[in-house]
Amino acid sequence: MASHDVARCQEIFSDEWVSGLDEGQREAAAAAADIVIDPSAPETTCPACLTKFATGPSECPECGLCIG
Ligand SMILES: [Zn+2]
Repeated sequence: MASHDVARCQEIFSDEWVSGLDEGQREAAAAAADIVIDPSAPETTCPACLTKFATGPSECPECGLCIG
């Protein structure tokens, strides 16, 4: 993974990102905080948009968030 991709992930999870969310999105983000991404599991849940997708891609196919 290129270093600028890592920086983008950190940016997405910054406090500024959370402060820009509406209430529903904050609740989703809080729920997402409980999600543990298990690379050996057959399915991954995106912590940003809660989309479930088959483990494999390092980015969420829905929102493009990079996962682990
Ligand atoms: Zn996503």
